[in-house]
Amino acid sequence: MLRLPEYRYHRPTRIAEVQALLAEHGAEARVVAGGTDLIPNMKHRLFEPAHLIGLSAVEELRGVTVDDDVLDIGAATTLDELGRNAEVRRHAPALAEAARHVAGPQIRNRGTIGGNLCLDTRCTYYNQTEFWRTALGFCLKKDGDTCHVTRVGKKCVAAHSADTPPVLMVLDAEVDGVGPSGPWTHAVKDLFVADGIHNTRLEAGDVVTRIRVPISAARRCVYRKLRQRQAVDFPLLTVAVAATRVDGGWSDLRGVVTGLGSRPRWISGWDRIFEGGPLDDEGIDELAQRAWAQCHPLENMIVDPEWRRAMVPVEVTRALKELRAREG
Ligand SMILES: Cc1cc2nc3c(=O)[nH]c(=O)nc-3n(C[C@H](O)[C@H](O)[C@H](O)COP(=O)(O)OP(=O)(O)OC[C@H]3O[C@@H](n4cnc5c(N)ncnc54)[C@H](O)[C@@H]3O)c2cc1C
Ligand code: SF4
Repeated sequence: MLRLPEYRYHRPTRIAEVQALLAEHGAEARVVAGGTDLIPNMKHRLFEPAHLIGLSAVEELRGVTVDDDVLDIGAATTLDELGRNAEVRRHAPALAEAARHVAGPQIRNRGTIGGNLCLDTRCTYYNQTEFWRTALGFCLKKDGDTCHVTRVGKKCVAAHSADTPPVLMVLDAEVDGVGPSGPWTHAVKDLFVADGIHNTRLEAGDVVTRIRVPISAARRCVYRKLRQRQAVDFPLLTVAVAATRVDGGWSDLRGVVTGLGSRPRWISGWDRIFEGGPLDDEGIDELAQRAWAQCHPLENMIVDPEWRRAMVPVEVTRALKELRAREG
């Protein structure tokens, strides 16, 4: 049986208290929302915070409201609530769908959208017990100095494996938070960085408070997930595409893929291939090939990277065809 390291649990009810506890305990503290990722990682001794600051009793961090054409989601809203919320299903159905595809029901009952945005990256050589990692001599991301995937280089390429960020990115969502120097806001598409050791712009003491998704009646979004089993599993590949309905077709087409490298990849150059109009099969083919050309998965998980790469154009094509079918 894997045991947790010793820690002291704090249960604040206000964001100001969370901030005060983070300031008091500094690097020894970590916030925990649903704990569905952090607690297993602590059992594997990937993190050993002496103080855990729970967010689940902070009412300000919960719930979904619609305000001035913006869907405003509290960071501690559970994935189950998000997947079932009528406003989310109406204004951002792809986000509800992404939430409903995370893990299984028990994990969605506890896991939150804030935790999903801040999810640690994953790798075959990292998400293992301490005993397993000791035998290998650890790795760059934790306690070692070598990356067993690239074998050279000083960057970790563990996979970003969260399902909701690609959808939030193509929908132009923003994330609000508070930190030691006050409130901050990032566009979700600028939140992630290309280093799997710590793959977000969040700094020590930062807490995500809300996620804001602009509402547009003309925009359509499609989310697709590839995984080994149709339940519980992390994504091998997640694709999100969005575009705006206009007379004669579509405009402002964008796409994001994740599950491959350390951050979600915004597919570049689609605006040069597709300037607007109808989405025909030939155009979809070209867009899918463009996505394939930009994706180079490595051996950071047990599933063959060449197969994962080959599935990029397949899933992007499916997503674009689903989008086209939503013309009404
Ligand atoms: C078996 C299994 C399958 C899974 N499958 C999937 C899957 O298919 N797709 C997927 O996306 N995820 C999956 N997960 C991972 C996880 O359950 C989800 O990503 C979940 O949304 C994490 O949310 P949480 O509230 O439990 O995060 P926690 O575990 O509480 O926290 C995760 C990290 O985020 C930080 N954090 C949490 N909230 C905040 C905040 N408000 N501000 C700043 N930092 C914060 C924590 O400090 C920690 O570092 C799976 C997990 C398991 C165990
Ligand atoms: S990608 Fe390399 S450094 Fe990162 S977790 Fe895997 S083995 Fe470690």
